[in-house]
Amino acid sequence: MKSALVTGGSRGIGRAVCLELTKMGYAVIINYLSNEEKAKEVKAMIEQQGGTAFLLPFDVADSEAVDKALLGWETDYPDYPIEILVNNAGSRKDNLMIFMDNEDWHSIIAMHLHGFFYVTRRVLKNMLIRRYGRIVNVVSLSGLKGLPGQTNYSAAKAGIIGATKALAQEVARKNVTVNAVAPGFIHTDMTSDLDETQLKSLIPMNRFGTAEEVASIVAFLASKQASYITGEVISVNGGLYT
Ligand code: NAP
Repeated sequence: MKSALVTGGSRGIGRAVCLELTKMGYAVIINYLSNEEKAKEVKAMIEQQGGTAFLLPFDVADSEAVDKALLGWETDYPDYPIEILVNNAGSRKDNLMIFMDNEDWHSIIAMHLHGFFYVTRRVLKNMLIRRYGRIVNVVSLSGLKGLPGQTNYSAAKAGIIGATKALAQEVARKNVTVNAVAPGFIHTDMTSDLDETQLKSLIPMNRFGTAEEVASIVAFLASKQASYITGEVISVNGGLYT
């Protein structure tokens, strides 16, 4: 059976992606940082749908932890090659740059940009050997447009967009596609502290999006049908142009 690894699969957009990939017939590897209860809920939802799910907690920003977890996975489950990787794990630590400390800068760059590198490098090897793979990176409107108060997050997401375009060209001949999805404002735990009433007036659709609206395009890019799309960034933002 083929499997799909979703980083940050325990909540929000990642959870919705796990459920979409289950519908496509993939066994889903749910990565998360610490929220085991939420990850188990997603596993149970997948099993209720008749799917197969595994929990694989690790910190995407920790190179050794990533290698250890994925090496362990490959050793324990050689019959479940990872065909899809969705780099989705993330969070924000917003502040105006003038007040931003080193930790808030480095931790956000590490979680998003280094995390993308550590996990993708590890999973890519087998995709290249098997001559098939789909990598989808969840980036952000912030990485395209830049948002004030998010220099750390915008830099990290813009970095992943650059890496998406470069890697897409490196691996295209091996049938591995690399694309990015850039959500605008989406209802999840990550945006629960934002003032939706004020922000939605900026959005032509006059509402925040749902995790499912992001997951459906991630699933399409992860599907066989998206075979001639690579190096693209697709916005899912209700018309909030960059
Ligand atoms: P969320 O609901 O807060 O969920 C975050 C997920 O990431 C959780 O599963 C969390 O695990 C996991 N995670 C956080 N740090 C991690 C780490 N270092 N290692 C492994 N897993 C980690 O967030 P979300 O809104 O769904 O966001 C998902 C992605 O979409 C992020 O990359 C975010 O930047 C991007 N995005 C979101 C929005 C939005 O409006 N929501 C907009 C643009 C882009 P635990 O449950 O264990 O904490």
